[in-house]
Amino acid sequence: MQHQTLLRTALFIVALVLGISTLSGVFLTLRASEEIESQAAAKRAELAKLDETLNTIERQKAYDEAAKKAKKLANEIEQKRKDEKAAAAREAAKNATPKPSSDCSSPNAHSEATRIDVIVNKKHCIQPLTFTPNTINVSCAGGGNAVVASSAVNDFKALCDAAKAAGVPLGITSSYRSYQTQVSTYSYWVAQGGQAAADRYSARPGYSEHQTGLSVDFSAGNSGLDSFTGTAQQKWIAKNAPTYGWIQRYTAANTTITGYNAESWHFRYIGRLAAANYIASGAGSLEKFWGVSGGDY
Ligand SMILES: [Zn+2]
Repeated sequence: MQHQTLLRTALFIVALVLGISTLSGVFLTLRASEEIESQAAAKRAELAKLDETLNTIERQKAYDEAAKKAKKLANEIEQKRKDEKAAAAREAAKNATPKPSSDCSSPNAHSEATRIDVIVNKKHCIQPLTFTPNTINVSCAGGGNAVVASSAVNDFKALCDAAKAAGVPLGITSSYRSYQTQVSTYSYWVAQGGQAAADRYSARPGYSEHQTGLSVDFSAGNSGLDSFTGTAQQKWIAKNAPTYGWIQRYTAANTTITGYNAESWHFRYIGRLAAANYIASGAGSLEKFWGVSGGDY
């Protein structure tokens, strides 16, 4: 009996141990599976994140491509717009380039383009319209280069030298301009704001005094045309230019007869004797001095 009890107890203990170990096995298995599950969840989250990153990259790529396409399209539109504007400007210039009126091309005492007493204004075009003078590229002491008619070269140099010696070296903005240059300049202004506006800023081709080679626009250093007024250079040249045969062509008091607003920078060569007589006469304009018509077109 004693023996049986012991055996039963032993069996019970064995069963108990087996039970516990099975239970703990089950428990451990459960724990392991939970861990695996949580690792899998972490991996899934990681994957989702990667997926999202990939989506972002693809969206960015698609966006970049779309932006590139949009930019290309915008460039094409801009180019087309420019081409159309240029074509319109060419067309406008063709229509705006005036035929010389009978008045403009009629001979007068000052219509010989090769002479230093030639008159060129809005009533008197240069003759022939595409006239090209003999010009020389000459440097203005301390102030850059100009292209002037050979008949004006010596006194141009003398004017520049005197200005430099007086401590006010003159710069050059513009000098001889060909008929073709004036075609471009004028059509540019026509394209900007129409012919009426262009006529206020720019001479029509064949009507610019610059085509004679006898006109120079001066500057003070790098000053633009409009900032020339009031500079030491402007004050000096206004007073001293006639000594060397140059006169300020367009003055504030004579806009009606010259047809141009005042230009403190634009000087015209007429020779020393004529310039002295011009100043003494008090005429104020070449039109009045020489008795030729002027004003608007
Ligand atoms: Zn000028």
